[in-house]
Amino acid sequence: METPRLPALFIGHGSPMNTLEHNLYTRAWRSIGQALVRPKSILAISAHWYVPGLAVTAMETPQTIHDFGGFPQSLFEYQYPAPGSPALALRVQELLKPLDVAMDHSWGLDHGTWSVLAHLFPQADIPVVQLSIDRTQPNSFQYELGQRLSPLRDEGVLIVGSGNVVHNLAAIKWDASALPHDWARRFEQQVKDRLLRHDHAALIDYLQLDREARLAVPTPEHYLPLLAIIGTQYKEEALSFPVEGISMGSLSMLALSVGF
Ligand code: ZN
Repeated sequence: METPRLPALFIGHGSPMNTLEHNLYTRAWRSIGQALVRPKSILAISAHWYVPGLAVTAMETPQTIHDFGGFPQSLFEYQYPAPGSPALALRVQELLKPLDVAMDHSWGLDHGTWSVLAHLFPQADIPVVQLSIDRTQPNSFQYELGQRLSPLRDEGVLIVGSGNVVHNLAAIKWDASALPHDWARRFEQQVKDRLLRHDHAALIDYLQLDREARLAVPTPEHYLPLLAIIGTQYKEEALSFPVEGISMGSLSMLALSVGF
């Protein structure tokens, strides 16, 4: 039987506490995981591995990295013991040739990846490889990476980008019932409109989407995984928004599914 083409997902991860919580976002992530054809392996692109250069995690058993401070001990004790996949790491390296992709043995799975996979695949029994975001490259580079990685979708690999379309920690509102900032709502709406119109050029040049785009995306790392995911989209392929909402005023929890 032929391997069905898998969707590609972008998930707005929000607070690391979502790992341990059960709320409307994490319930939606569980539903996505339950509806998916089970992937053979997962390639994760997390906002939290934003480094000079490209690397893939190539170890058999990636460690769970607790790359944050100021959260409860229970979050530091959390483990996501999914195996790695040196074979997928090699396949990624091959697809991205002639780019230089380092085989990494020191990173692992960071909270951008496991806070989401904890709900998508709570059994942690599907091999996971992480691909870094090269901070020295222009935005268009992430999009082109997605294009080059798209054949993986026909090889049983689920590509998951984890970040946030709007991510401004300085503008967070700690009141749970707080309304989103106007600029957050406007920027997110622009992104959704462009996604629905397949206007990828506008999404790559995202600072032009709104006069206050810099408030929505003060630094690029949480936005860039979205560009990799839309790079995997085939022409005329459907997309949907399986999760919507803006958390704490300035964190867009928007999720995008390409081909699902
Ligand atoms: Zn984050």
